[in-house]
Amino acid sequence: MADIHPCDAHIRHDLRTPINHMVGYTEMLLDELPKACESALTDPLKNLLASAYRLLDTINRPTPVSLGRFDALFPDWRERMALIDADLLHLKTATDQYWADAGADVAKIAEAVGNMRALLETLSARPVVDLGTPPVPAEREHAGGQVVGTADGHLLIIDDRAENLELMQRRLIREGYRVSVSNSGQDALQRLENEQFDVVLLDWLMPQMSGADVLAKIRSRFSAHELPVIVVTARHGSETIVDALTQGANDYLAKPLDFPVALARLATQVYLRKVTRQLAEANRQLKQFSYIDGLTAIANRRKFDEYLMTVWRRSQQEGSPVSLILIDVDFFKRYNDALGHEAGDHALMRVAKAVSTGLFRAKDLAARYGGEEFAVILPETALDDAISVAERVRMAIMEMALPHPASSVMPVVTASLGVGEWRPTAFCEPSALINLADKGLYQAKAAGRNQVGTLGAQ
Ligand code: GH3
Ligand code: MG
Ligand code: MG
Repeated sequence: MADIHPCDAHIRHDLRTPINHMVGYTEMLLDELPKACESALTDPLKNLLASAYRLLDTINRPTPVSLGRFDALFPDWRERMALIDADLLHLKTATDQYWADAGADVAKIAEAVGNMRALLETLSARPVVDLGTPPVPAEREHAGGQVVGTADGHLLIIDDRAENLELMQRRLIREGYRVSVSNSGQDALQRLENEQFDVVLLDWLMPQMSGADVLAKIRSRFSAHELPVIVVTARHGSETIVDALTQGANDYLAKPLDFPVALARLATQVYLRKVTRQLAEANRQLKQFSYIDGLTAIANRRKFDEYLMTVWRRSQQEGSPVSLILIDVDFFKRYNDALGHEAGDHALMRVAKAVSTGLFRAKDLAARYGGEEFAVILPETALDDAISVAERVRMAIMEMALPHPASSVMPVVTASLGVGEWRPTAFCEPSALINLADKGLYQAKAAGRNQVGTLGAQ
């Protein structure tokens, strides 16, 4: 303690730390108070809390920039500490009598009071410069009771002080959150690698790795939407807040935590995180849908174009062949004319299924190319193999045995297929392959339909 100079900008912070612990444990006990001892313990707890806030007011009191001695500037601190001592004694007696389980927490409060006194004694004879701008005092209300909340979300609290971690963890768990804690930036970053969190609560002032360092590391890996970070700081003043927000924090909270406010802000970030996740999933699904043909539920032309380009580029690098099959239903206009457009739609759905059943490899793509035409992309496939696939598809369509009363080929639905193969070089485009397959298709039509044409093969 002796090395803290009153001119140091950290004075208010150092003084607030034990008060925050006191306030935190006291508020927590109020929250957890069993019904049976409410009447005996509510007042002692509230009195202690009020005394703690009175001392906080003293410490936060605006001080002139001009020099003065600590005792002269804060003449009432001893008086206020004496009140705290009296309240603490009262609380101890009451808990010993009515709620022995609270003993460990009351001991923590006593420890914080002890730390506070030691620090104040050290400072009392020293000169003081400006201690910074005081915060706006927050209004507080205590619901008390034992209601356990239904909040959900996985939180990571990063703070070098075990008391802060315990205070926040216990209170947030009571609200329903799943809470993990880390006492250092290094440990937290390790956890973030292995686990998924919805929101991070990050202490700004930490030894070794500071909150700013941790935040920078987090932001290099996760955006503000992917992992919201709320900075928790005992240092008041706009500078820290602006620093934190400009460095990527989503929000900030000041210690001592105004718990209802902290909960509301936390809930906002958890909600935003959830909405962002849902939106990402919806976008993913939307993208999937945008690649599917509405009638036949196989890939559509957009997917065909994109996939052919991907396969093409890969083949350009690897020097592998790409094959393409174009499939056109025979006399389909007559089919519609004879059986109606609705039956025609149904037939196209069946043909799409038959085309898909003719494909055995996951990387082969069947797509509706347009109207009553389909296409199959066969990556890393030479002509002979492509012709086998085309034959299999042709047979699968014919063997559906879907009656076609107006076809000149057979009394069932059939298709003509054109096959092309290409080994893409640096400058050629996929249209070269499409033209080839198209020539094959024209050949198959001209030669009597229900067959595979390879006229355009290289
Ligand atoms: P060919 O054997 O020479 O291919 O003769 P075709 O009648 O199949 O060829 P054409 O290009 O003359 O006619 C294609 C027909 O496919 C005309 C069109 O109404 C029909 N068609 C295209 N898309 C759909 C669709 O989504 N649903 C239905 N029911 N019919 C469609
Ligand atoms: Mg056609
Ligand atoms: Mg046709």
